[in-house]
Amino acid sequence: MIADYHIHTPLCGHASGEPREYVEQAIVVGLSEIGFSDHLPLSMYQQPGYAMRRDDVERYVGLVQDLAREYASDITILLGSEVDFFERSFEQDAELLAQYPFDYAIGSVHFVGDGFAYDHPDNRTHMREYGVDTVYLASYALVAKAASTGLFRIIGHLDLAKKHGHRPQDAGAVASAASAALQAIKAAGSAIELNTAGWRKPVGEAYPAPDLLAEAAALGIPLTFGSDAHQPGEVGADFDRAVRLARSCGYTGALRLSAGVIEELPR
Ligand code: ZN
Ligand code: FE
Ligand code: FE
Ligand code: ZN
Repeated sequence: MIADYHIHTPLCGHASGEPREYVEQAIVVGLSEIGFSDHLPLSMYQQPGYAMRRDDVERYVGLVQDLAREYASDITILLGSEVDFFERSFEQDAELLAQYPFDYAIGSVHFVGDGFAYDHPDNRTHMREYGVDTVYLASYALVAKAASTGLFRIIGHLDLAKKHGHRPQDAGAVASAASAALQAIKAAGSAIELNTAGWRKPVGEAYPAPDLLAEAAALGIPLTFGSDAHQPGEVGADFDRAVRLARSCGYTGALRLSAGVIEELPR
């Protein structure tokens, strides 16, 4: 079975359940490998409930390592982190990451401009005032910059701008920006994730959309899978459907991080 590399813990302030319950759910649904990827503390726009606190990073690392040891005979557990990408602070974030033995980092863009958290549920109604196309274009530009830092093994939820169901007006310009982001990801050698959380959001579509996934497959960009679980029952959510989608878009394999190899997708 494919691995789930996008799993949160309650340390971020907006997920529920015990970390151990996420592991047990992974075993129940038949995963042989997972990675925790909780939100690294934000160095900018610090608001409570967005990410783990700076003081909790050590605790997070310890708890994932403890679970990895405890469950070693049942499942491989990697230590990852989802990092909010900010042009002005990524060097600080890289320093923080380097202090701990992270197996990988997911680079995610959740903020555009001067701190507009476009994916936050409270901002669903503010997307239009801010400008839907502005959010799409700015987020893809930041994704491209995030990739080019080389800091991220995986680029998270590529087209998160669609989360609340807003579609761009200038679809052509947005598609070009998305292509540029994919080119940067390709050049950096990063993977993208097929993130199934979009199926649970107003947009009702996994990230990225099929056309972008096909474009990524054609470029030979490696693929991982992520549930973006914020509660234990979401671990591995909709992975069968995700594998079918990946295949239909031209993917035949997925990246197994522990081994660093592309493995054939299950039938
Ligand atoms: Zn989260
Ligand atoms: Fe995210
Ligand atoms: Fe996440
Ligand atoms: Zn995420």
